[in-house]
Amino acid sequence: MDASIMTSDARFGAVACVQRVKNPILVASKVMETPHLMLVGDGATAFARATGFGDYDPMTEKAKDKHARAMAELRGQGDGDFATDAAAWLHLDWRALWNFNGEPPIKDTVGAVVRDSHGRFAATASTGGTVYMLRGRVGDSPLMGCGVYAGPAGAVAATGVGEEIVRRFLAKTVYDWLEEGIPAARAAQRGIAKFPEIVDVGLLVASRDGQAIASNRNMASALLVG
Ligand code: ASP
Repeated sequence: MDASIMTSDARFGAVACVQRVKNPILVASKVMETPHLMLVGDGATAFARATGFGDYDPMTEKAKDKHARAMAELRGQGDGDFATDAAAWLHLDWRALWNFNGEPPIKDTVGAVVRDSHGRFAATASTGGTVYMLRGRVGDSPLMGCGVYAGPAGAVAATGVGEEIVRRFLAKTVYDWLEEGIPAARAAQRGIAKFPEIVDVGLLVASRDGQAIASNRNMASALLVG
């Protein structure tokens, strides 16, 4: 799993390829308390244990079922639900690339942007990754400026195909528009418009003028005003 958190005073913490923790985002926020920005792989997992995060198996029945259906698609026996994701792998000898010891977990993604009563912002993202990914793959979620960015003008969190989000440096690009005075809703829509329709992407944006949620797929979201 990958996760990161960034605050408007430029504090940042991230973990990438962390394993067997319940809340990777809490480990990322612990990293934020250190002089480092990001820990990866075994080191990230060892850091989680050292700082009190116990062993936790994030696998669920739903994730197992999703994984089985996704793998069936690669083998040519799928129900079509993962056909778009599988397309990037089917022209490769994917079996020769597969580097898992056991079954790779598949989990969903959650992001959040926050503005507190003092006008400070924060952005977070946490993910189990994409439908198909090799062991060791890092997506956009733990990368500053890609999956998350926060500064005095606002906060941005992204979800969708990580590699495409990273290529567009999406969170920082949208943040820069906020800094130029572009309203949150317009900035979010412009961010989504950078992607072709086939690439799923979603954005959460909070700025001084308000907040916006934009995506090119149905994605669950909620707005809480406290
Ligand atoms: N962006 C995540 C990743 O590529 C996945 C997602 O948002 O669904 O790891």
